[in-house]
Amino acid sequence: MTRDPRFDILFESVKIGPVTAKNRFFQVPHCNGSGYRYPQTQATMRGVKAEGGWAVVCTEWCSIHPSADTTPTTSARLWTEEDVRTNALMTEAVHRHDALAGCELAHPGLASHNLYTRLPAMGPSSRPMPPRDFPAQGRAMDKADIRDVRHWHRRGVRRAIEAGFDIVYVYVGHSMTIFTDFLSPRVNQRTDEYGGSIENRARLIREVLEETKEEAGDACAVAIRICVDEQYGPDAITAEDGRAVVEMLAELPDLWDVNVGGFDDMLGSRFRKEGWEEPGIAFVKQLTSKPVVGVGRFTSPDTMVSMIKRGVLDLIGAARPSIADPFLPNKIEEGRPEDIRECIGCNICLASNSMTVPIRCTQNPTMAEEWRRGWHPERIPAAGSDARVLVVGAGPAGLEAARAAGARGYEVALAEAGRELGGHLNAFARLPGLAEWIRVRDWRMGQIDKMANITVYRESELTAEHVREFGFEHVIVATGARWRRDGVGTNNYRPIEGHGQDHVVTPDDVMAGAALRSPVVIFDNDSYVMGGCLAEKLVGEGHNVTIVTPFPQVSPWLHFTIELVETQRRLASLGITIHANYNLAAIKQDGVELSGVYGEPARSLDAASVVLVTMRSPNEGLYGELVGDQAALTAAGILSVRAIGDCFAPAQLSEAVFSGHQAARALDGPDVTDQPFRVEQVPATFEPPLPWQGN
Ligand code: ADP
Ligand code: SF4
Repeated sequence: MTRDPRFDILFESVKIGPVTAKNRFFQVPHCNGSGYRYPQTQATMRGVKAEGGWAVVCTEWCSIHPSADTTPTTSARLWTEEDVRTNALMTEAVHRHDALAGCELAHPGLASHNLYTRLPAMGPSSRPMPPRDFPAQGRAMDKADIRDVRHWHRRGVRRAIEAGFDIVYVYVGHSMTIFTDFLSPRVNQRTDEYGGSIENRARLIREVLEETKEEAGDACAVAIRICVDEQYGPDAITAEDGRAVVEMLAELPDLWDVNVGGFDDMLGSRFRKEGWEEPGIAFVKQLTSKPVVGVGRFTSPDTMVSMIKRGVLDLIGAARPSIADPFLPNKIEEGRPEDIRECIGCNICLASNSMTVPIRCTQNPTMAEEWRRGWHPERIPAAGSDARVLVVGAGPAGLEAARAAGARGYEVALAEAGRELGGHLNAFARLPGLAEWIRVRDWRMGQIDKMANITVYRESELTAEHVREFGFEHVIVATGARWRRDGVGTNNYRPIEGHGQDHVVTPDDVMAGAALRSPVVIFDNDSYVMGGCLAEKLVGEGHNVTIVTPFPQVSPWLHFTIELVETQRRLASLGITIHANYNLAAIKQDGVELSGVYGEPARSLDAASVVLVTMRSPNEGLYGELVGDQAALTAAGILSVRAIGDCFAPAQLSEAVFSGHQAARALDGPDVTDQPFRVEQVPATFEPPLPWQGN
């Protein structure tokens, strides 16, 4: 197949200073939890993206000095000559596929935790460190500090060039670099030539940009990544500030990489839709002749074309879309855009980074597994035998298992009890804001439709007897899980008194359309999105909703996906009353009794309906029955039975997809439990000798 001519414009080359991007697909810097700790993981992952057609592939943020230490989160780093070598792994991997490698040099200023290095954070003015750090304040920089930062950045440029990068960044984005600290009037309270007017607040950026250009010469291009409107109110970096900086520095960098919203640039699809940044960044191209790249979780080639043709962008920036589908450009090029695995905007990728582990992606189970497990997103080993595979249950886990087993060439039967494929996701994605999540189902159904070796049986609820009669050699059980009805969960080890009454329901009931009466009390003892999304749905249906949660906030885990603040704002805007730090002690006929988690006084609330959002029970009956009778399995010619997804261990959507993928790859393979993947290893040497040991 060849590409649709209307997408030709996306494959035009773009000159960026002394280098040329072969097309307009630009993987902007994005964190990935690998960095200096897992350099081979990072290099291989980036190399796969280059193979997938991205013309530019960047690092995540790359720390230039120990005073710019982001521990515990992992970043790239250029502190030492050894760091130059580990970064070179990435540039080599990217260059192998004729792509450019970009390095986002960074100093996080007051956002530097410096937990590892024990150096005080520093910025234009003294500010308290975030509450999760050691209690301290960052210190105000003097002129010598400013000289140091400029020197470190210049040295970072030299090292980046040595490592083979084609583009180096001056990073002024996401409200967390030393340059945003200086630019922001609410942070920068200086009275010298680096504070006050916009010219003064932008002075350090100009100095560093000029020095970076000088240092880069013709060896590499210089990009500035800048948030042109933090949207945090009049005290922060405003749209006027952003415009003024672009006007001032218009022709200085070789590339403008622009965004808005500070940290909110990265909010997920529940809160921000494709292309939402356009109104805030569209002005940049009017003020500079240099190419402009911007993001907007672009997955639609038509939207991308429109961004170019309407003069908003020159290069299509992508972080998450390139994670969900590293081969997005090639799929457009090859005339099969329907094969693009579109990002759903769930931010599990960001959460992995926040949790300081290599990146996971809900849509792309091979993400960060390229090196350690040898998984490629587009290539999968051929079937290990002529054995046939029966997958029971077509939720996300079963769909992925069937798809990947089919891609390996196995004859696959996928049996689903219901009419619809997609399992729990069908109802879940109908909750407010989660519509894009259905892409997990749709992409897999689209792929399965293309494979003649996969047969789908709908409305086929299988018993153990059916499975044995079917007689396929490998059985993958993906029967999912149900929300518990008794209130047992994180804070309650025993059923909650009164749970068995008719007006007490579960998320499954609510999503299936159970008739509720107001006032509704949601007891939310689940750390993820369910409680908040149900509340939003019920308010939308006209209910009076109160949330009771033993946690300090609703959906506390969304701290990791960076959606916690926006979630609280959404709930507040909907007028939902929240009783945080309260457990559900008892459910009465017309109300609930609450007990304070930390000894707060008991409370009583009216409740005509009570929704228990606590934990799920795996539907493990079928699996148990099958493996409980080995003799019957043998008699039926069944070689393996494996439970996957929520019926094995209820978890997030990403884990259901991952386990489905893993099961398909494991078919006919060795039973590896001791060492399931390669481990990145620090050499076991003491070098140089310790100072007290002499020579
Ligand atoms: P997961 O997230 O692990 O994929 P889901 O709960 O989303 O799990 O999906 C499980 C699917 O399995 C549901 O669509 C359900 O209808 C189906 N299912 C459950 N039991 C059976 C069975 N015995 N036979 C066929 N399908 C089943
Ligand atoms: Fe998109 Fe979710 Fe994958 Fe991140 S984890 S790239 S948000 S699908």
